[in-house]
Amino acid sequence: MKTNIKNLSLLPALLFVLARASGEVLVGGGGGPASQPKLDCIPQAQRDAIEAAIAANPAAPRGPHPLDGGPAPYPFQPIAGTVWQDRFINNFVDLDPSSGILDWDCTGFTYDGHSGHDLNLRHFGEQDVGVPIFAALDGTVIARHDGEFDRNTSLNPSAVANYVILDHGGGHHSLYWHMRSNSVAVPLNQVVTAGTQLGQAASSGYSDYPHLHFESQLNGVVYEPYAGNCQTSTPSRWVSQTTIRRDTYLELFAMHGMHGTNNVSPFLPENPPRQGTFVRIGAQQTVSCWFLIHNQPANSTYRFRYKRPNGTVFYDPGTFAFGNNATAYRGAQWWWNYTLNPDTSGTWTLDVFINGALMVTAPFLVLNTGGVPTNRPPNAFTAALDPGAPTTNDVVFCRLAVPLLDDPDYDFVRYHFQWKLNGAVVRDVTNGAFSDAVRKGIAQTGDFLSCTVTANDGVTNGQPVTVSTFVGGVVPPRLNVAQLGRSDFRLSWTTSGPPYALEYATDLIAPNWQPVTNGLGQSGGQNTVTNPGSGSLRFFRLHFTY
Ligand SMILES: [Zn+2]
Repeated sequence: MKTNIKNLSLLPALLFVLARASGEVLVGGGGGPASQPKLDCIPQAQRDAIEAAIAANPAAPRGPHPLDGGPAPYPFQPIAGTVWQDRFINNFVDLDPSSGILDWDCTGFTYDGHSGHDLNLRHFGEQDVGVPIFAALDGTVIARHDGEFDRNTSLNPSAVANYVILDHGGGHHSLYWHMRSNSVAVPLNQVVTAGTQLGQAASSGYSDYPHLHFESQLNGVVYEPYAGNCQTSTPSRWVSQTTIRRDTYLELFAMHGMHGTNNVSPFLPENPPRQGTFVRIGAQQTVSCWFLIHNQPANSTYRFRYKRPNGTVFYDPGTFAFGNNATAYRGAQWWWNYTLNPDTSGTWTLDVFINGALMVTAPFLVLNTGGVPTNRPPNAFTAALDPGAPTTNDVVFCRLAVPLLDDPDYDFVRYHFQWKLNGAVVRDVTNGAFSDAVRKGIAQTGDFLSCTVTANDGVTNGQPVTVSTFVGGVVPPRLNVAQLGRSDFRLSWTTSGPPYALEYATDLIAPNWQPVTNGLGQSGGQNTVTNPGSGSLRFFRLHFTY
C-alpha cells in the first residue's frame, strides 16, 4: 500500500532553480505526489498465509455465518487522530474490477486492486510517538502477527506486516494492517470490546508510508462499508458516514532553515527539519518552508510573500507553476530553499498562496546577530468529547481542534491524554495524533469521565485542557432550599450519583469558596444542612469533588 510521496530526489516534478539579482534567491525546491502501488496492501501470498493461520486456529469460527441485515456498521474510524485533519484517507476500496480505479464516490481515491481504507499518518515522527489503532467493534482476535520491520519507505511485496484480524460474528472480519513492531496489544483469541487498543500504526509490510490499512470482509469477501453513487449494492456500513474532503488544504506546514543544502533532509515520510527562529548572519540564509497539501488541482501555482515585522513587503517574487500540468494530486509534499538576508529583527511573516488563495500566514522570529533562540511552548488548542453525551455503550473519543500552526517554533507537537474515571486514572498515553479513545464498557451510568490533554513540543508543555462529562445522561444534582421558620432554613441535595460537597463564600465578586463542615446530615435520600452559618451574607454551591 501506499500513499503519499516519494523521496524528492526521485520526484517527477522538480521545481526549476533560479537566482535573482535582488539578493533574494530561490535556491531550489521539489516535491511531488503519491506513488501508485502495483499490489494490494496485503499481497496475495500473505493473504493465503493468513487464511491458513486462521484455519489452523482451533478457536476461530468455521465457515460462513450470514448476518441478518449485514455486517454491523462502524461507529468511528478505528485510529487515533481525526480523519481529514491529521488522518487522510488516501485510498478506499477499488470497486472497478478492471484495471481502472473507482471509489464509492465515483472518483479516484484508490488504486487498482485496493481492498481497504488507507488512513495516513503525516510522518514517522507520529509513528515514533505512537498512533493507537482501536477495535472498530466488539470482536475476537482470530489472527495476529508482530515483530516485523515497520519503517518501509519503498514497496516490497515480500515485506511482512504486523497485523490484527478481528471476528465480529456472522462472518464479519475487520483487518488492521501495517502495525508498529512490538505494538500488537492483544493475544490470539482474546475477546475485545470496541475501542480496545489493538496496536499502533506504522509502515510494516507492503507499504512506503506510515498508515493503517483497515479492511472489511464478509464471509471472506472484501466489502466497501461506504455507500455512494458507485457503491449502491448495500447501505452504508457506518453509523455516520463521512464525506470525502475535496477542498485544497494544508495538512502540515513548517518553516525550516536548511541552509546551503539545496534540499530538505530528511524529508517526508521522515519528520523533516523545522525552525521558527532565525539568527541574522548578515548574508543570504535559508528562511523557507515545506508542507503537505491535499487535493492540489491540476496546473497549480504558488507564491511566497515575505513581510517585515511592520507589515511592509520584503520579498514577493510573484507566481510560479508547480509543474503538475494536467495532473491533480490528492496528496503531495513540497519543499523550497528560499534564501534571504533579513534587514531587521522581530516577528516576520511568510504568506503562502496556492492558486491565488492565501493558505497560511506563517510567523517566524528574526534575531539580531548573536541572539539565542529560546523554545516556546505549543500553541493553544481546544478539546471535546465525542460523542459529547456518551452512554455506557459508546467508545468515547477525546478530540482536539488544533490549528495548522500548532507551535511557534514549528516543532512537532505530540499530545498527552490522561483519562480519569471518577477521579482515578484509567488510561494515560501520549499520541502523535489529535485524538485518543477509551473503550466501550469502561464506564457505568453516572460515572464521571474526564480527559486532560497536554501538548508537548519535545521539550516544553503547553497549558493542559480538560473536558469531562457524566456517562449515561446523568445530570448534576440541584441544591434545594427550604425555609423552616423566620430565620431558619435547610439546604438539601441527593445522596445518589456522583459525590458533591457543599461550599460557601461571602462574596461573589472575588469568591473564596470554603467547605461547609457544620450541621451536615442525611435524611430520606438527601444530604442536609440546617442553618449553615449566620450573621453575614452567604452564597452556597455544590462542588463536584473528583
Ligand atoms: Zn491499503
